[in-house]
Amino acid sequence: MRLFAANIFIMTAVSDIKIVKATSSKLKDLSLENIPFGKYFTDHMLEADYIDGEWKNVTIKPYQSLTIDPSLASLHYGQAIFEGIKAYKNPSGQPYIFRPNDNFKRFNVSAERMQMPTVPEEIFMEGMHQLIALDSAWIPTMADHSLYIRPFMFSTDHLIGVRPSDTYKFMIILSPTGPYYNVPMKIYVEEKYTRAAPGGVGFSKNAGNYGGSMYATALARKSGYDQVLWTDAFEHKTLQEVGTMNVFFIIGNTAVTPSLEDGTILAGVTRDSAITILKDMGLKIEERKITIDELIEHHKSGNLKEVFGTGTAATISLIKELRYKDYVMQFNLDEWKVATGLKTTIDNIRYGKVADNYGWMYKI
Ligand SMILES: *Cc1c(COP(=O)(O)O)cnc(C)c1O
Repeated sequence: MRLFAANIFIMTAVSDIKIVKATSSKLKDLSLENIPFGKYFTDHMLEADYIDGEWKNVTIKPYQSLTIDPSLASLHYGQAIFEGIKAYKNPSGQPYIFRPNDNFKRFNVSAERMQMPTVPEEIFMEGMHQLIALDSAWIPTMADHSLYIRPFMFSTDHLIGVRPSDTYKFMIILSPTGPYYNVPMKIYVEEKYTRAAPGGVGFSKNAGNYGGSMYATALARKSGYDQVLWTDAFEHKTLQEVGTMNVFFIIGNTAVTPSLEDGTILAGVTRDSAITILKDMGLKIEERKITIDELIEHHKSGNLKEVFGTGTAATISLIKELRYKDYVMQFNLDEWKVATGLKTTIDNIRYGKVADNYGWMYKI
């Protein structure tokens, strides 16, 4: 009897999102036109606490700073995960979110790998829904603009001891964003540093993966490259991801992208969308291992047509140059049709300009 009553109580507590509204909007002092990525935040945020084995205090409240204790566990041992999602408005001004259910599922995959509690759908999805509904005036309507959604979770125990935290905070913040500075990239094929190894945490969207990648990226920048193409930890031959994006190679009429089974690739929602659309564009899709040696052979034979990265922030990033040791592959982007066609199709779906035949747009 007592157990039954306790379950009922948890369910009502979880679906009950308290809302404290801001007294005025920061939007009146801000233009959303060409706003830089990740710098400005909307009027509200969502916050929830994991205490005594339960999610509690689910609240949408005015965007504000947190006060932290210097011993906060996540600062020391890195139990910290996040997601990146985007919201758009269609031509009649109706807000939509692009495939948020996929990010919800991936968030909990990351949580399990980092020994963190999963977040229930009633908090992640319903909380995001209510937060976006409240701040929907912040979704820009200009071309190539959107509202970036950043759900994240971190450990909050005040204890400098290496063990999983008992307490966590889950939050969602929102940031309006203008067109991504999307110039074609020069990429350096990495031969020394490693982003992810089998058995590691490469498939999870945890903060440390980004911290660990910055040194190699900075070295590549010093040599005049924008990003690195990550390779496997053992031989530095098998291709993984480009910077913080998934990578696609158009070889003849086939789109090749590294497969997920080693756990070294982040399963991008844009990657999955690209696979679906490219198939419908008539390309053959191969999710498999591909090495730099194979890529160079296709380049030499003239079969390597296009190389691009996919991710929520930039959608599609074209690669104009790829360097491995002394071998430099350069591409004439004016001849490309696949990457550009793919980008147009994804954008048309996101901005509600064509029918969403895949069921990707989540209505607010
Ligand atoms: C987030 C991320 C991606 C892209 O995932 P999307 O869901 O398409 O945004 C790719 N690689 C890494 C390492 C990432 O963290």
